Amino acid sequence: MSDPSPLEKEIRRLIAVGGPMPIARYMSLCLTHPQHGYYVTRDPFGAGGDFTTAPEVSQIFGELLGLWALSVWRMMGEPDAVNLIELGPGRGTMMRDALRAAKVLPKFRQALSVHLVEISPALESLQRHNLGDADVPLTWHRHLIEVPEGPAIILANEYLDALPVHQVVKQADGWHERVIGLNANGDFALGLAPDALPQFDRFMPRKIKEAPVGAIFEWRNDIHAFDIARQVRGGGAALLIDYGHVESDVGETLQSVNEHAFADPLSAPGMADLTAHVDFQIFGQAAASMGAVVQGPVTQAKFLRELGIDARAEALRRGATPEQAANITAAVTRLTEGGRTGMGEMFKVIAICDPKLGALPGFVPA
Ligand code: SAH
Repeated sequence: MSDPSPLEKEIRRLIAVGGPMPIARYMSLCLTHPQHGYYVTRDPFGAGGDFTTAPEVSQIFGELLGLWALSVWRMMGEPDAVNLIELGPGRGTMMRDALRAAKVLPKFRQALSVHLVEISPALESLQRHNLGDADVPLTWHRHLIEVPEGPAIILANEYLDALPVHQVVKQADGWHERVIGLNANGDFALGLAPDALPQFDRFMPRKIKEAPVGAIFEWRNDIHAFDIARQVRGGGAALLIDYGHVESDVGETLQSVNEHAFADPLSAPGMADLTAHVDFQIFGQAAASMGAVVQGPVTQAKFLRELGIDARAEALRRGATPEQAANITAAVTRLTEGGRTGMGEMFKVIAICDPKLGALPGFVPA
């Protein structure tokens, strides 16, 4: 066996000192440990990386989101100054494409201050490089709460799935936190906290309350939804795109992806991406409890179609070589197709907005 990585040693030390740690703590260390976290040490996107995201599949994705933001700004009454915030911008590709599309309305571009919320210094550098020629003010933050208040439009693609998730397991006496400890050989091993979490499912949907013994339920801290809801209270809207389920359900979705293949989440901490599905029901409820209005979720396919992905692809194909045209068609298929290979049905889009705004583009009832 190869030597444990510095992060593995650190996690073993933390367990030795403090006892078994919740899955969420492990996930947080794996992804965002200040020196050894997965996002902190590398650029994981694209064919050469571990996974590919929608903005990396096609420029159309970011362009449509830029036009969505423009429409929302109009619905907000065209404020002279608006914060355009992106959570977890990756390579900065989506913001670059969105800002290019926003050029169609100079008044909108002039109103923009762009705020990028990125935990990883390495990805922040990449974003600075890729957004270097944007002629709008750009500011980086580690956390959303650091972004100044004011009218805001928030965009986030594949951000929520990277936030730490807790797992709890139903036992006869209630729900117990799932933890990672060390077995007799000194290897990482899953276990359960000895005491049930008091009243854990009191405010949970019925499906969770009535789950059988042995069921696993994953949940994230509501603070993420609260922070987003608070930020749009000044008349704005947030758009979040991610894979997940529309209704809360039991089941384990925590997964580890390394070089486009699944791996064991407990092996090689910090070397692979760890994600879990987003529970849009709980997320929406938390945002609504702060006074925000929730629209959707709708599937990514439906959302992109309503925003005009087909017309935009057709326009791009007109000026393209046959090979480029085929690539554009393939990218649109990947973004909108259902099934396990396509992103169209697995990914959902949800909006969180100020109650003053009506139905947002892409969420207009049929
Ligand atoms: N939106 C991009 C990248 C998605 S990957 C795309 O679609 O390509 C997740 C992004 O969120 C990365 O930029 C990662 O560094 C960032 N991130 C992960 N955890 C974070 C946290 N707790 N706070 C802020 N950013 C985080």
